This record gives sequence, structure tokens and C-alpha cells, in this order.
Amino acid sequence: YWDPVVAEYVDYGVHVVMRCCEAFRGFLKRIGESDAVSFAPSLSIPLWCGGRRHLLRSSPLPGPLHLLPSLLHDLPLTWSQRLSAMRAGAALWSASPGTLADVTFDVWLSHHRQDAQTRAVLWHPVVIATLNAPASRVSAAAAQKVFLDGVLQRRGAGLGFFQRPLSRISASAVSYIEAHGGTASLRSAVHKIVVQQGQVRGLRLTTGEFLEADTIISAVPPKDLASLLPRTAAMEVALPAQQALKGSPIVNVHLWLDRPVLDEVLWIAADAPIQTAFDVTRLRPPSGTARYHHLAISQSAASEWLKSSDAQIVDRCLHALAPLAPRVASAHLVHARVIRHPQATFIPAPGVDRHRPRPVCGIRGLYLAGDWTATGWPSTLEGAVRSGILAAGRATASSSEMADGVDVTPML
Ligand SMILES: Cc1cc2nc3c(=O)[nH]c(=O)nc-3n(C[C@H](O)[C@H](O)[C@H](O)COP(=O)(O)OP(=O)(O)OC[C@H]3O[C@@H](n4cnc5c(N)ncnc54)[C@H](O)[C@@H]3O)c2cc1C
Repeated sequence: YWDPVVAEYVDYGVHVVMRCCEAFRGFLKRIGESDAVSFAPSLSIPLWCGGRRHLLRSSPLPGPLHLLPSLLHDLPLTWSQRLSAMRAGAALWSASPGTLADVTFDVWLSHHRQDAQTRAVLWHPVVIATLNAPASRVSAAAAQKVFLDGVLQRRGAGLGFFQRPLSRISASAVSYIEAHGGTASLRSAVHKIVVQQGQVRGLRLTTGEFLEADTIISAVPPKDLASLLPRTAAMEVALPAQQALKGSPIVNVHLWLDRPVLDEVLWIAADAPIQTAFDVTRLRPPSGTARYHHLAISQSAASEWLKSSDAQIVDRCLHALAPLAPRVASAHLVHARVIRHPQATFIPAPGVDRHRPRPVCGIRGLYLAGDWTATGWPSTLEGAVRSGILAAGRATASSSEMADGVDVTPML
């Protein structure tokens, strides 16, 4: 959205992608936005713990060993905790995902003798930041996906920061569609998907207009899809996922200050009342119009915060920032905006994957996409793009291999 107070486009939700998000990177390339995300050359995440700053960072060692020096030297763990974390990391690396699907990551960590400090320093910050839920609510399979693809694999690790607002990137996607002979209709929502004798016939828009179609790819969330379909179709196609996938909130707090207060573009706090801080001004190239320094706090699994007023949340953030970014005490807060996303992402709880549908459903001509469908990924931009590739592959039947195997390399 455009914020007139600070003359800046602001993302409602601050987004980060990891180097392992190959389909999303392929999507950016296809729409001419390859440079929209700037990737750090390797993993390097400042982590505040016990009032001190530590660094979880890659070394030149190959494979999962690349984090070993950091684990041994940078993190505030005893030698026995480090050894135990290494054993658990090796077990996670080699576990078959099928054995992890029905157990919470918390239970899995207990089985692997991870004590409270090791969880707080190593496992929990990554789980909360990537899965938007605590280890007690996510499956060990979802945690394994994140740790294997985005942390332990050297080539998949590394954070990517958006260089421009997401709205600019979606505008490029629209241009891509139009340049290829398509039309993007952004002013009219879909009122109903018209189905006759088990076959889609078209879309009724909220304007009353009818668009005839024998093939439709739906990319709306399951709750919206349920309201668009005839009742029996909704019960079969959308309701199982709607009931199984529980949402989890994220609260983003945007603060504009008269000076920079962070020493780096991002840090995570393991044991503070705030989780992740971004220096948005430093993350993005200078815009020429921005007058103030933009700091964003992203709070995942933020149910508690939903109950607080904006003023209370801003106060809490400034208070929590004080010991971690002392310059905040002398900075002047020019403007603040609190944005609540009560259902930001779905929780990848044990067992939910079996309720995530594949693109082909019981209605002929209707194909399902969206991050909530069966992508093998948690609720992410990567999952959303993969779902679109899968559904389009099925709908056009032009690349069944791509649709079956989630082979996204043609997009890269
Ligand atoms: C605050 C926040 C932070 C996040 N951070 C990250 C991150 O750092 N990294 C990451 O990878 N992911 C992140 N995510 C998750 C990511 O944004 C989602 O996984 C992704 O956007 C899902 O895409 P989607 O296309 O499946 O669904 P959506 O983005 O929900 O899109 C569905 C669209 O359907 C539209 N729609 C609904 N009903 C209708 C209708 N009747 N007619 C027409 N249109 C309709 C909606 O308006 C919406 O635009 C974050 C999410 C939030 C909320």
C-alpha cells in the first residue's frame, strides 16, 4: 500500500525467501523480475540470545557440515549440547519424511534429547520464522523440509530480500500475462464457479458478468473456494482442507525513525519479546522519495499480539528494541503502522498433508492451486508458485511429467 505519511510503498507483510525456493526464482525470471530479490551469498543470520549477539553462518564446508563451525564456536551452547544437536541434525538429515509426518517436531526433539537451551537457540527460532508456528504445533516432517532444504543444504541456504514492494512484482506478472495474449481482470471478484453435470461451465463475477470457460484454475484459499462452488462440490473439494488447515497469525509492525538504529539488515531474537527485525531502508535500494528510516518487526505465531492495541504493540516493540538496538533510545519515532494478519499462513500440523488436495478434483475442468494444495511445501511463496505450475501442467496436459514430479527446472 502507499503510505502518504512517509511517501513510501509498504508491503502489508514483510517477505523473505530462501535460496532453495527454486520455483519462485524461476517465476521471477519468467516475468522479468529476477533482480527483485537479492540473495545473500551464504547463510548468515545474527541471533540475539541472553543479551548477546551471535551469528549462525555458513562456512565453506560442503553439505550439512557447512554450519558445523558456527555450531561449535558461535552459538551459546555447552559442548554436550553441541554434540547432542549434531546427532539430532544427522538424524533429521537421514530420517524418512514418512516417519515424521504424524509427530510434532517438539516430540521429535524430545526423542532426540534436545534440552530447553538447545531448542531455544537453535531449533525454535528457525521453526517459528519459517513455519509461523511453534515446534509443538508443526509436524516433524515440515520442520525437516525447512532444515534440509533451507538450512542444512549449503546451496539452498541463504536469505533473499525483496528489493521492491510485492505489488510492483505482481504488476510485472500482469504485464507478462498481457504480453502473452491474456487478460488480467483485477476489478471484479468471482461470485460463483458455475458447474453443470460435474463439468465447469464458467465464472459468474460479482459485477454480474458471466465468463464462459471449460477449464478453470482456482488459486483462492479453501474457505473462498468453498463459497464459490455449489454446496456438494464445496463439501468434496474444499471443506476437508478448510477444516484441517488451521491458520496462524503474523503481526508486522512498521516503524519510521529519524535515523538508522540497527547495525545489520536483519536479526532474529531467540529470547526477546520480539522475534525478527528488518532494516527495510537498508534492504532496498534508495528510492529518492523515502525521508525516514524504515524498521519492520515481524512477529510470527502472534496470537497474543492480536488482542493488544496498536499503541501497546508499538510500545512493546520500542521497549524490546532498547537493549538490542540501543540507538533507538535517542531516535525520534516519526510514524508507525501495525498490520495484523490473523490467518497469515496455515499450520503444517501432523497429518494435515493428507487433506491437501492435488490439482485434479472431482469436477471436470476445475484445477486447484494455492499454497494450501499438495505441494510438499509449507505455506510459502514457493509453495504457491509450485501449486500453479502443477495445476497449469494438469490443465493444459502439456507437461504431465512436470505436473507429476514437481519438476520445476523448466521454469529456471
Ligand atoms: C504477513 C505475512 C508474511 C509472510 N511471509 C512470508 C515469507 O517471508 N516467505 C514466504 O515464502 N511466504 C510468506 N508468507 C506466506 C505467503 O504470502 C503465502 O504462502 C502466499 O502468498 C500464498 O499465495 P497463494 O496465491 O496461495 O494465496 P494468496 O496469496 O492468499 O492469494 C489468494 C488470492 O485470491 C484472491 N481471492 C479470494 N477470493 C477471491 C474471489 N472470489 N475472486 C477473486 N479473487 C479472490 C485473494 O484476494 C488473494 O489475492 C507470508 C504471509 C503473510 C500474510
